[in-house]
Parts: sequence; structure tokens; C-alpha cells
Amino acid sequence: MKVQTEKAGVSFAAISKEKFEQRDAADVILGLLQEQKTLCVQSVEKKEVNQEPPLLYDLTTLQKEANSKHGFSADKTLSIAQKLYEAKLTTYPRTGSRYIPSDVLAEIYILISGLWDNTVFGKQALALSNSNLNLRSVDDKKITDHHAIIITENSASGLSGDDKTIYEMIAGRMLEAFSKKCVKDATTIRLACGDTIFETKGSVIKQAGWRAVFDDREENEDEVEKLPTVIEGETLSVLQSEVLEKQTKPKSIHTESSLLGTMEDSGIGTPATRAAIIETLFARDYVRREKKSLLPTDKGLSVYEIVKDKRIADVALTGSWENTLSQIEAGEMDADTFRQANEIYTRQITAELLNVSIAISGENECACPKCKTGKMIFYPKVAKCSETNCGLIVFRNKSEKQLSDKQITDLLTTGKTPVIKGFKSKGGKSFDASLAFDADYKIVFDFPEKKEKK
Ligand SMILES: [Zn+2]
Repeated sequence: MKVQTEKAGVSFAAISKEKFEQRDAADVILGLLQEQKTLCVQSVEKKEVNQEPPLLYDLTTLQKEANSKHGFSADKTLSIAQKLYEAKLTTYPRTGSRYIPSDVLAEIYILISGLWDNTVFGKQALALSNSNLNLRSVDDKKITDHHAIIITENSASGLSGDDKTIYEMIAGRMLEAFSKKCVKDATTIRLACGDTIFETKGSVIKQAGWRAVFDDREENEDEVEKLPTVIEGETLSVLQSEVLEKQTKPKSIHTESSLLGTMEDSGIGTPATRAAIIETLFARDYVRREKKSLLPTDKGLSVYEIVKDKRIADVALTGSWENTLSQIEAGEMDADTFRQANEIYTRQITAELLNVSIAISGENECACPKCKTGKMIFYPKVAKCSETNCGLIVFRNKSEKQLSDKQITDLLTTGKTPVIKGFKSKGGKSFDASLAFDADYKIVFDFPEKKEKK
């Protein structure tokens, strides 16, 4: 139940502590409020709240926040971060650490001075240059191969668009992480009407600290109003009262940001591979995007139905592999034991899966361009001709890219795909190309023709 009251011309709302299961019970209190038209101030509690700045970005946190703040996919954020790294503007992106070592700390003042001219947070950078740094994000023990993502001393003045957005997230987070804590005065006022208690919370920022970097624009988690000064025992008048009807919310649908968090918590993938795992779900048409939400497709649901009870879908197992691999790396586990266990496991899952009959939808079949008699059948990892003598096979995985059914169909029916973006060369460079068949039905890259310069 919500009640609106006021003091000295400042009106504010308070919500009942008790949640009413039944409408009748709420109506009784509502009647009482409307009759009395007053509330008594039962208590006023003030306390100082300190909020330390967030830690620096690791890849997963950067991907999560770029998704929730700017709607970027995990894959897009990774490729921009990779590009910024290759341009020597930010540090190595495929990191799982949110800390820097103490020797890097020595450079931080220099990096901060490089941001004095920044239009968004230049003022904060200048202020931070004249104060002590917050050392929360400095810990030699919490770094493995790479430290958290930070900027370099090189000027990023040439950036624009999405590249600039990611760069400024990284630069801004660096300023936040080394800034002082934010100090707020939080007030809780409790108002009573009979036995029913209403509560309201307000807060005033005493020292903005790290929240000054983005001027708090992106934080709406504590939407609190300034409260007027009231004293215990005081009587306030009721301006308005109403019963709020709320239905119990179902679990919310995953966004890429929340999915990345869940993957991290359940030990699925590594910071470097999570984006690729999500992209594979899209490429195989198991999941589709609807605005920021991720929804399973019919195909995804039918695959899920088949594998959900099978060993291959056991999340705990894949997570434990990651652990075992680190143990082998540290010499705490014998590699051969692990290999033997996996041989047994592979036999088990293969047997399980061979016993499954999968209804393959006819939609994605098309004639084989090579033998012209067989049908191409689509599987999760390949598309293959039904004629065993022909044996034409198209692998979905091509230079770190997963081909979709549509792209493979284009290749089979027209001999060529439209330009596909984001292939990775052996050297890790990203490139765009069409795929085509050569005379032997091997897949080759076909590069978009450069317009000739005049
Ligand atoms: Zn064929």
C-alpha cells in the first residue's frame, strides 16, 4: 500500500512494510487512512553509507555492461576490445582479472593525465591527478596471465562511434576504480497509521567520489528523493493513499548480460570463449534476439529436449574439466588419467546420442550441387550429401566463424554466399569475405572486389 504525505510543501511517498496477500485486509487499512487523514512519525533513522568504486573491467564485466548500457552483443564488445588492443589504445582484452599489479600502478597517473582533455570526464581526470588513488583494484595476487583492461598512454582522439563508446567505458571505469568512495547520508523514515507501518528512504550525496566520473548518469538503481526534515512524534497529513496491486513476477528472460553472468557463475567457458559460445547458439539458430532479450527457437527447444537429460548437457562436468585442466597445468593431476576418463566418457555419450532419433526438418534440405542426385542434410556441425559415394561435406566452422543454415543454403544453391563478416585469419586478424566452391567443391574465400582508385 502506498501513501502520499507532505511536510513544509515537500510531498513524498511511503510504502507499507507489510505486504497484503488479500485485498480485503488492505481495504480496511485504506479506510482507516482515509478517515484519520494523518500519519504519525514513528522513527527517523540517519546513517552514513559508503560505496566503494567498482573494480576495473575484465572481459566478462565489460561485455555485461556494454550489453546492458548500450545493447552490444558479447561478440561485438570482444571484437571492438580486440581492435582497440591491436591499435595499442587499450590492454589485452581476453582477461579474467579485475585487478592490476603494483608495478602497473606506477603508470596510472600518466594514463590519467592523458584524459585531461576528454570531453566526458576530463574534469574528473584532472581532479584525480591531484589526489591519492584508491587502491582497491591493485592486487598482485589476483592476476593470472593478464591484468584488468585499462587504457594505454596513446591518444585515442581519432576514435568514433562504437569504438569510442567501448574506449570511454574502459577509460571511465579506470577513473572510477581509482577514485574515492562515494559517501551518502541515507535517511529512513517510518510512519504509522494504527498498527500499519509505512517506510520511505531518501539519500543525499555528501561526497560524489567515483560517481562523479559519469556524473551518475548511468546509475538509476537508487532512485531516491530528497526527504524533508521530520521529527519523531510529529503528525503528517495524508494527501493520498492507494493499494498497489502487484503480481508475482515470473523469472525474467535472459539478456546477453545476464547470460554472461550465469555462464560465469556456473563455470561455462572462459572470459575469452563465452562470446563465441553465445554466437554459436545464434549461428545454429538455437536462440534469437528480440531487442535485448534472448529467446530459444523451436529448433533450440527440440535440441534441448533431446539432450537435456544426457551426459553431454551436464554443465557441472564441463566446468570440472576447466578445473582439471588447470590442475594438469599446475602438475597436480596426471594428464593420462584425465585422457582415459575422457575416452570412457566419449564412448558413453556417443552411445547415448546414437540411440537418439532426430527428426530433421525438411526446410533446410537442398539438392547436392556436386552429384545432383543426393540431398544435402544439415547437422549441427556439418551439412552433408545423402549419397555416400558423393560425400560432399560443408563444415559449419570456417576460420572461427559458425556458418548459419541460410549461409550454407546460399552456398549450395548459388555457389556463393553473400559477404560474411568477422572471419579470423591464423594470425588473429579479422576479415570479411564471401565463400564459394572451387572446381573440386572445396570451399574458398572470395574477397569483395576493391573499388579501383582513379
Ligand atoms: Zn552429392
